[in-house]
Amino acid sequence: MNKHQTKRRDIVSFDKSISSNIIFSQPDKYRTLENISKNSDKIINVGSNLSYSPLGFSENSLSIEIKKFNRILNFDKKRKLITVEAGLTLIELLSFTLKHNLWIPQLPGYPTITIGGAVASNSHGKSCAIHGTIRKSVKGILLFHKKHGWLNLSENENQEIFDLTIGGIGLTGTIISVTFELLDLPSSNFVTEKQDVENIKDCKKIILEKNDKPSFIYTWNRADNFKHFGKGIVYKNYIDSKSSISEISEIRNNNFRPLPIPLWNKYSLRIANFFYYKINKLSKTKKKEKFLNVIFPFYGKENYFNFFGKKGFYESQLLIKESKIELFIEEFKELFKKYEPTITLFSLKNMSGDQKYLRFEDNKLCLTFDYVNNKKSLAFMSKVDNLCKKYEILPSIIKDSRINKNTFYECYKEALEFKDKLYKFDKDRVYQSEISNRLEI
Ligand SMILES: Cc1cc2nc3c(=O)[nH]c(=O)nc-3n(C[C@H](O)[C@H](O)[C@H](O)COP(=O)(O)OP(=O)(O)OC[C@H]3O[C@@H](n4cnc5c(N)ncnc54)[C@H](O)[C@@H]3O)c2cc1C
Repeated sequence: MNKHQTKRRDIVSFDKSISSNIIFSQPDKYRTLENISKNSDKIINVGSNLSYSPLGFSENSLSIEIKKFNRILNFDKKRKLITVEAGLTLIELLSFTLKHNLWIPQLPGYPTITIGGAVASNSHGKSCAIHGTIRKSVKGILLFHKKHGWLNLSENENQEIFDLTIGGIGLTGTIISVTFELLDLPSSNFVTEKQDVENIKDCKKIILEKNDKPSFIYTWNRADNFKHFGKGIVYKNYIDSKSSISEISEIRNNNFRPLPIPLWNKYSLRIANFFYYKINKLSKTKKKEKFLNVIFPFYGKENYFNFFGKKGFYESQLLIKESKIELFIEEFKELFKKYEPTITLFSLKNMSGDQKYLRFEDNKLCLTFDYVNNKKSLAFMSKVDNLCKKYEILPSIIKDSRINKNTFYECYKEALEFKDKLYKFDKDRVYQSEISNRLEI
């Protein structure tokens, strides 16, 4: 191992549930990456470590971070193709493509997420009902694997490994660069409309109804107490066709610094949600919004996460058939009354795509819940795991650090096929993370 490129460091998952002391390396040349990989038995890739669950590290693996590989390698404006290194961040990609009125629309909610991280987790953005997940934009990948060396992956070359790598949580090797097909974006400004709703049934109706213009629809719902459960606001963002592309302002460094004492609890949440709802109800139903606010909703609002304190939180993201949502919510509310979890966020949106392997993707409704990390929330969440099995719900392993092996294999019908193909490709299973070990992938 090259002592100049590797060191020990403490690392913690974004939700703060798992921490570890790991060996970490940040190669700056392809040759260094080859050497470091050659000299390590177990490896895992890490981007900005913004996954809620511990996907980019493990006590026994060397974490390779390729943030120094952040160049734009090729841009073909006519064919709308761009090839970028995987350490580039989303905001760096957009700062270039938006100047040409182009983008990829499947953008997860924080600007410093890396291309490698977004592709390996098959991320999606607010527009996932229309645009699906990032898989739809990926045309090719250059992968480095300790044993197989350099591999070009696409629908025409090494197709099986291409398919395993997108959403393969870094287990097939190191993504070095990605070729994306870009879409036109006439304007980087949005119009946001909002509407009050009393319950989840009304939310579902609005989310699923046909819209005359393509919009990103998502909701904010109360789940801080039983009486107001589900009451909320539906937001619709659509591109402001009367506007044009505006320059993106410079991005600050991550501002995630958990407070020493947590501020989210049942009382503070009740007050915060009451005022959030009232302010939204009283303010204009239609307003103009800038690109960063719409696409990266948590940028500038990092205190939401900081308020969980050092103990952190858990996020659960669930994909459910629209026909099953009402029954699921009824049972969820019954459990809520009994176990009294502390839920800080509840949101709904629609998603499109086909579920395969480990990918969080389907033609289903997507529900998101954030919980304060305490005993009651954990007891409640394990009961919801049973509902996942009952209602054929897909829980996200990118978001939920807690999912156990049993729930995972029951809900991810193709997980075993993924595992078999991965072992066929790499019988020593070189690339391993905390999550892949726990789920025995
Ligand atoms: C505030 C916030 C909002 C978010 N919003 C969304 C959202 O709207 N939609 C969504 O889908 N996700 C969302 N996420 C989750 C995020 O998109 C993913 O977790 C993403 O993987 C994080 O990227 P990263 O660069 O931090 O990667 P890391 O967290 O460091 O790694 C994530 C995974 O990618 C692998 N990986 C990283 N780089 C490489 C590489 N070069 N080669 C191979 N594998 C690699 C790692 O091994 C790991 O399995 C959000 C996260 C945060 C913190």
